[in-house]
Amino acid sequence: MSELAIFGGQPVRKKLFPAYRVIGQEEKDAVNRVMDSGILSRYLGCWHDDFYGGPEVRSLEKEWSEYFGVKHAMVVNSCTSGLIAAIGAVGISFGDEVIVSPYTMAASATAPLWYGGIPVFADIEPEHFCLDPVSVRAKITERTKAIIVVDIFGQPYDAEAINAIAKEHNLIVIEDCAQAPGAKYRGRFAGTLGDVGVFSLNYHKHIHTGEGGIVVTNNDKLAERVRLICNHAEAVVEDKGVADLTNMVGLNFRLTEIQAAIGREQLKKLDRLTKERIDNCSYLTGRLNGFPGIRSPRVRAESSHVYYVQPFLYNENEAGVERNKFIAAVKAELPVTELREAEGQQISCGYAKPLYLLPLFQKRIAFGNNGYPFNSAAATVSYQKGICPVTERLYEKELFLHEFMRPPATRDDLDDVVRAFQKVYEFKDELKKNDEQ
Ligand SMILES: *Cc1c(COP(=O)(O)O)cnc(C)c1O
Repeated sequence: MSELAIFGGQPVRKKLFPAYRVIGQEEKDAVNRVMDSGILSRYLGCWHDDFYGGPEVRSLEKEWSEYFGVKHAMVVNSCTSGLIAAIGAVGISFGDEVIVSPYTMAASATAPLWYGGIPVFADIEPEHFCLDPVSVRAKITERTKAIIVVDIFGQPYDAEAINAIAKEHNLIVIEDCAQAPGAKYRGRFAGTLGDVGVFSLNYHKHIHTGEGGIVVTNNDKLAERVRLICNHAEAVVEDKGVADLTNMVGLNFRLTEIQAAIGREQLKKLDRLTKERIDNCSYLTGRLNGFPGIRSPRVRAESSHVYYVQPFLYNENEAGVERNKFIAAVKAELPVTELREAEGQQISCGYAKPLYLLPLFQKRIAFGNNGYPFNSAAATVSYQKGICPVTERLYEKELFLHEFMRPPATRDDLDDVVRAFQKVYEFKDELKKNDEQ
């Protein structure tokens, strides 16, 4: 009988890992304040003072912009909505190209499609996993209008290099900072490094309102256009005296007063929650870096990382076992996490499949079935396997990530994770033997 849990042995730990519970009495009190007021939303979709929403929405926007040091903050009902509004606000039109990352949540690459824009995938950095400036530059054509950068896993993109490219070619930079609230680059917050930033407040993020998002910018015109797109632009532009009608077909991306009230309490907790994550990640880095074939990637110079997830690089030759086998064995040694039982253990291989491999891009079917918007002048853009080799390598062989660092994980919890790795190393020949059978 084998020692390894994956072959029927006793696992290192059975007691579930503790849930990441960030909702407390403060949020309950805030919700009750709104319930007592009776105003669950006060938005009006016409040109009126209430176009800007109710008191909780306005307070959250003010507090968010003060905290992040940015002129405008606009709450929305998700980061996905915020990205769509940002693309619309920038004026993206049929056939415009937008450079995107293939290694992110799908919404950061599909947002351009809603306005007929064509996502063009650039490759990522092997050490930091954000868009690689060299690859971005190589993808620019006369049709390129914007770049959607992603602060993936919780670390800011290479703002100096990418902003310089954007400036040179007159491109707008939209920063998807869903995974990086509170991360910094040269003293400035992620989300405020490009022209527009978009945060997420969904349940899985550092802080949340169930669902929600926030768009930030220092640009007055973009801020106004985002607000219009999020709140029935077509019914507002005339009375508001808006001249540029490009993409002024509005949606309803509004957040409720209840959610905004929760968001205000959550923002107060952001600092403490991210500090605990960072501490836990540096502890795990110290303990796991010693294992052959496992290495914590370096954090970008002059930046801080807030670890939405913690990535590690895996070298199959040094470790002596293929990554997927190794991580499957580690997984079997560990329990699931409370409140997320159905997701399985919070460790996985590869992150997201390179997005250009999704059927949407492979078959070029988005809106209707006539190929719109891929049937534009940009039709030659490639979505072939092989276009982003660094992304594919990380996805297929070299990256794994986990979420064991989320508070209130203790050193004992983290030590169990380390013990799972130790045990799999000790018995790794069994994984290989299994190979040969
Ligand atoms: C979570 C996430 C989103 C989407 O956020 P929603 O608020 O669920 O729409 C977008 N981009 C990235 C990188 C994310 O992690």
